[in-house]
Amino acid sequence: MKFRILNFFIWIVLIAVAMYCGVNGLPLWPIAIISLLYPIFLITISTNIRWNVFVKGFHDQKNHPRKEVCLSFDDGPTEVTPMILDLLEKYDAKACFFCIGEQMEKHPEIVKDIIERGHVIGNHTYSHTRKMGFLSSKSLAREIDACNIIANDITGFNLNLFRPPFGIINPKTKSALEKTGHLVIGWNLRTYDAILNDESKIVTRVKRKLKPGDVILLHDNKEQTIIILEQLLLHLKSNGYRAIRPDQLFKINAYT
Ligand SMILES: [Zn+2]
Repeated sequence: MKFRILNFFIWIVLIAVAMYCGVNGLPLWPIAIISLLYPIFLITISTNIRWNVFVKGFHDQKNHPRKEVCLSFDDGPTEVTPMILDLLEKYDAKACFFCIGEQMEKHPEIVKDIIERGHVIGNHTYSHTRKMGFLSSKSLAREIDACNIIANDITGFNLNLFRPPFGIINPKTKSALEKTGHLVIGWNLRTYDAILNDESKIVTRVKRKLKPGDVILLHDNKEQTIIILEQLLLHLKSNGYRAIRPDQLFKINAYT
């Protein structure tokens, strides 16, 4: 059943039960609580990308036989990206950069450099607007297409991988992706480099959770990510891990 129909049906039932309770003098508070909890439930399933509720994505490779993980960087390119590229080169690591269209317009040379150094880029929408969760499927498809056009102008590649901003996947995202045809790449290991300030705490936590087949989420618009990344790369190297790209980990095409 389409989610929109199911959602409509749930609200109709709630309103009908509320009316019945009202007419028959029954308590309305259970209905009020369910009506409040239901939107929270919807937000929860829309922001937990790994649950694959609306779209099935690639979040990690379970039981991966080799010591390989995937590093992914969101929200660039920025002035920080070249330093990240140098670090990745120093440790012979490969990664995927989920680029924002507006940022690619500002830094086309960095985008070219990402590709030339053997990494791949993915689509992270044109504007990365904070209203992403409220966009219509048409507007979201436009955001994805606009990002693709810029990437194509700079690199000649047609992006196949998409990471939703804020990890939001709702029914609108589903129908937008049905139009654009992108594959969703999520993550299973967050560094919280965009939120937390204590680099050593971040690294300790990531080291503790790390396992083969993980997809690690980082951001190339935060200077502290450089410190975190170097410690992480050192840890990977000393433990026999290799950092590879998501297209290599999942055996999919980064471009079409
Ligand atoms: Zn983002």
